[in-house]
Formats: sequence, C-alpha cells, structure tokens
Amino acid sequence: MFDDLNDLYQQVILDHCKKPRNFHELPAATCSAQGHNPLCGDQLKLFLALDGDKINDISFTGSGCCISKASASLLTDFAKGKTRGDLENMFGHVREMITTGKVADDVGKLAVFAGVHKYPARVKCAMLAWHAAMAALKGDQKPVTTESEEI
Ligand code: ZN
Repeated sequence: MFDDLNDLYQQVILDHCKKPRNFHELPAATCSAQGHNPLCGDQLKLFLALDGDKINDISFTGSGCCISKASASLLTDFAKGKTRGDLENMFGHVREMITTGKVADDVGKLAVFAGVHKYPARVKCAMLAWHAAMAALKGDQKPVTTESEEI
C-alpha cells in the first residue's frame, strides 16, 4: 500500500504507528470526541484540554490501522500549544492534501500523508482523527463516523 510513498514518509508513518505520541487519556480534558471508521475498523477517542482558544494539551486512545494511528499521533503533536483556529485551518489543509495530494506550504510533518490520496480506502483512515478533533471543538457528543462525514 505504500508503493508510491517515499521512504522517509513511510518511516515517519511507521514510527508514529508503533510509538504513537500523546497516546493516553487526558484527565484534564475539557472536551473529547469519538471517531469510528467502520470501513477499516478504526476507533479512536480524542481528548482536548482547552484554555480559552488555546489547546493546552491533547491526547488520544483507541485502536486501528497504522495510518489512522499515525494520523492521530501527528495531529496531537501538531496541535499541542496551538489555538483552535490553527487546528481548524490545518484541518482544511490536511483534508485538501489527503483528498487531492496538493500540499500546502505550512503543513510541516503532516506532509507525510500527501500520498494517501492515491489510496481511496485509506483516506478515511487518515481523516478520522481530524474529524474527531473538529467534533470535539464543536462540542458534538455524537460519535463521528466516517460513513456520514463529507470527506
Ligand atoms: Zn484504517
């Protein structure tokens, strides 16, 4: 499934999959959301500790394929210390990148997911954590499922 991704990108994804960052519950969370991708079986829960607009801390738990875990891991890595607006902006960039392969200038490490657009079945895996993050910011209590999301 990684044929077209270069080695560096592949390594970053595998590293985050095997050793996910911020992989724990967050007792101080002010909001959280669950995501489910029935096509692949990915399940995750995202926790955010907001102070006003600032994301003081963020973490996730769950189980799923390598892409879904690496995506959640890199999302939490990116979002810690950023603002709600930063995360919403990045959601737009990442969604465009994962669906079209177009990489915005400021996506940083998240560029490792640019190759995912060539694998339509994996797009939902990569987007799951991002949809869960947006749901958590909105305060949605309903679990997010990729079945009902416009991706
Ligand atoms: Zn998956």
